[in-house]
Amino acid sequence: PHKHPGTGWIEVIAGSMFSGKSEELIRRIRRAKIARQKVQVFKHKIDARYSADHIVSHSDMRHESIAVESAAEILARIEPGTEVVGIDEGQFFDNDLVDVANELARRGIRVIIAGLDQDYMGRPFEPMPQLLAIAEYITKTHAICVRCGQPANYSQRIAPVEGRVAVGAADLYEARCRRCFVPYA
Ligand code: ADP
Ligand code: ZN
Repeated sequence: PHKHPGTGWIEVIAGSMFSGKSEELIRRIRRAKIARQKVQVFKHKIDARYSADHIVSHSDMRHESIAVESAAEILARIEPGTEVVGIDEGQFFDNDLVDVANELARRGIRVIIAGLDQDYMGRPFEPMPQLLAIAEYITKTHAICVRCGQPANYSQRIAPVEGRVAVGAADLYEARCRRCFVPYA
């Protein structure tokens, strides 16, 4: 994306688990820093599985991040001069993240949000659908189906889990394509 200086916008990176969302977010953040832009990266406090103060990809790429309890806390922690805001695991936030993303973009910030677009039943996982609707730019990432090798768009739950998202999840889910995906009972 390349726009008038001072113009904000929203980019969403959405897909299944293992599809490379965090890698893509970290790649964009690193490039912004190469361009000497001031960057702040956030994640939700409940996502402390690999690190409390870094976002970490399944391939062990990492970038420092600020852990917050709510979308409102992101707004409160924006520093003067910040040009790019990255947010990982957007599905851990509630729908307030939509207003916060809009407000940051309105202030001229480039907002990049990565997150799961569907839960383990294949249901749209708010607030990601709402964010996809308001974003200027959308990237849909795909994993590789562990059953058949085709591009995978689903996160198959393979063990019992409390609630809609499991934290610390790598051994509880696997990537599956549409044909191989079976909603977990
Ligand atoms: P996401 O944030 O979407 O969960 P990550 O960026 O954390 O994904 O991790 C992507 C990495 O996961 C890949 O580069 C690869 O090393 C690893 N990986 C493990 N299982 C798979 C799979 N089934 N398909 C694709 N990548 C996988
Ligand atoms: Zn498959």
